[in-house]
Amino acid sequence: MEREYETKFDVKSRQAEAFIHHQEILETLEYARVNRNNRELIERLIEKAGLCRGLSHREAAVLLECGEPDLMERVFHLANEIKQKFYGNRIVMFAPLYLSNYCVNGCVYCPYHAKNRTILRKRLSQEEIRQEVIALQDMGHKRLALEAGEDPLRNPIEYILESIRTIYDIKHKNGAIRRVNVNIAATGVENYRRLKEAGIGTYILFQETYHKANYEALHPTGPKSNYAYHTEAMDRAMEGGIDDVGIGVLFGLNTYRYDFVGLLMHAEHLEASFGIGPHTISVPRICPANDVSTEDFPDAISDDIFYRIVAVTRIAVPYTGMIISTRESEVVRRRVLELGISQISGGSRTSVGGYAVSEKKKEENSSQFDVSDRRTLDEVVNWLLELGHIPSFCTACYREGRTGDRFMSLLKNGQIANCCQPNALMTLKEYMEDYASPGTREKGIRLIREEMNHIPNEKVREIALRNLKEIEQGKRDFRF
Ligand code: SF4
Ligand code: SF4
Repeated sequence: MEREYETKFDVKSRQAEAFIHHQEILETLEYARVNRNNRELIERLIEKAGLCRGLSHREAAVLLECGEPDLMERVFHLANEIKQKFYGNRIVMFAPLYLSNYCVNGCVYCPYHAKNRTILRKRLSQEEIRQEVIALQDMGHKRLALEAGEDPLRNPIEYILESIRTIYDIKHKNGAIRRVNVNIAATGVENYRRLKEAGIGTYILFQETYHKANYEALHPTGPKSNYAYHTEAMDRAMEGGIDDVGIGVLFGLNTYRYDFVGLLMHAEHLEASFGIGPHTISVPRICPANDVSTEDFPDAISDDIFYRIVAVTRIAVPYTGMIISTRESEVVRRRVLELGISQISGGSRTSVGGYAVSEKKKEENSSQFDVSDRRTLDEVVNWLLELGHIPSFCTACYREGRTGDRFMSLLKNGQIANCCQPNALMTLKEYMEDYASPGTREKGIRLIREEMNHIPNEKVREIALRNLKEIEQGKRDFRF
């Protein structure tokens, strides 16, 4: 992105404090503040965003701050349009799987912090992972996000790698986990290489906050307290060969404006340095949990601010997958689905061993945060169908080698739609055959029939139709 002003911000630097430049963020916030009612500028930015090539952090900051209600409405509208353009009405489904909540870090906002003695600590054995994965497969999930605290003794990289192997190996009935994304602590290039070799999808790491001084205050102890090591993790991941990375901040830890700008600078840095922007951006916000009260976080954000953040992120980074978790309520999730979100979790448990254990044990307290949306996966799928979205269990890209810049170029030129639409419908059909309740099935089958007509390429449509019939006859795992 061309810059028209003087700055020390060095987008390609490998040093955290150069590519997330404090002074540049402050100046950007000031620029946004003085221009919040500058209609001419805001209209120009909305038009530019409409070209679907994104916005710089400075431009996006102005839109986030926009004080003109009618123009903000246009931003919301555009966010939905851009999401539709890149992702259609498809919503990718996933579930988190917590492996271990042992953690040596002192993050003050997380109940897994090392000093919390009131939480039940647990690390799943490989047999327990099997049980969890079978439970997830029986729900219909195909895509997982692995979560583990940082503990070099209890959760070393070997444990994570072994767990990934276990997960990919489990084939229960028609179930299979076909993509394992991994959210573990910042590590070194060699470990990223090993994760890549293990066949992970996306490596996810949240920055929490980009504000260095606040970051250090929020992370008083443990390896995570090293701001530079944490902030430069994605550079090392890329160096280790992982070309799909997912970033995010925990909104509410610090002022949202600062972190929003930092997040976009990080995306710009990855794109400028490696030619690949973030595969996904997650937008968690601080929420209550064991030993964590939102009252301790005066920067916690309202729903209205949250909607702005989602919409402006979508138009600033139009190609990225945007993820929302079950931290958010049904009402909020419904709204953000119209503002650019393209992936949601369903039927989630945020405790270690939460899927396979009995109802009584589910009450035991080992969860990382409180889940607001407590519906089952089938209920979420049904709800999405009702709202006119296509729940997609597709995992095709990384299995077809469409990762990193190859994936991004297909996405940016719109060609990916020829894969996404049939893949979404075929995986939805698998879900309908194997897991759906009668009510969900009826809606799903109807939607598949209608949506088949929207596959742009005739040849692809024909093949997809044939595959749908074969799925009915018991075959699985077709993909483009
Ligand atoms: Fe550990 Fe992560 Fe929680 Fe920090 S946020 S205490 S690193 S599990
Ligand atoms: Fe995602 Fe690729 Fe499947 Fe499209 S085809 S839904 S981009 S995995």
